[in-house]
Formats: sequence, C-alpha cells, structure tokens
Amino acid sequence: MGMMFCRGCAKEIHETAPTCPHCGAVQGHVPVFNNVVPQPSIEDSGSAKFHWTSLTSLITGLVVTLMAISVPEQWDKDTVVGVVMFGLVPILFAVISLIQKRLGRWMAITGLVLGICALLAAIGNGS
Ligand SMILES: [Zn+2]
Repeated sequence: MGMMFCRGCAKEIHETAPTCPHCGAVQGHVPVFNNVVPQPSIEDSGSAKFHWTSLTSLITGLVVTLMAISVPEQWDKDTVVGVVMFGLVPILFAVISLIQKRLGRWMAITGLVLGICALLAAIGNGS
C-alpha cells in the first residue's frame, strides 16, 4: 500500500491508481491490471482441461459398447432394453456437452458415436 506522485500534477496518489484523482493524468505503471487481466483467458483456453459431461459421455459410451460386444449371439429382451437404456446415457451427455460447447469435444463425439452404435446393435438384435 504505497503512495507515489502524479506525473501530471505531482500530487501524492495511490500507487495502484491508473489515473490521477486530482488531474486525471494516466499513470505509467498499472502493474495490477496487467497481471490480473490475462488470467481468465488462460483458464478459458486450457486445452488440457475437459468437462465432466464429455468424459462421462466417453466412458459410458465405451461401457455400453463393451456390453454390446460381450453379449452372446442371442439377445434376450432384457439385454436389448438394457443396452438401449444405457446407450442413451452417452448420447445425452454428448448432446449436453456439444450444445454448451464444453471442452473435450472429441470425447463427446466419441461417446455419441459409441452410444448410437450400441443403440443400432440393440435395435438390430431385438427385431
Ligand atoms: Zn495529477
């Protein structure tokens, strides 16, 4: 909390003041603003991050695909219903993730494709 002197009128002002409260002259420093402003944009563009909806879509898509693959040739009605219901989960999360433009888009798309494949497999085996 230091004080400094205005460039314009030489009166004492707070060192973090961007402009002088007495004469309005813009001060040269502004270290606080330079340090604070860039941070949000760094967080927004963090490509390593992803949203849980995308990850959930991917995981449930993989699980339902494994379910569909591991089922023996004859699918009974319960199996078909189970795969259909579970296949809707990655599709639902993928839609949420894509509509809200969340990070991890490739996960959401992969989950969406896997979920649709599981649904098609269940429909094909159920009829
Ligand atoms: Zn001044």
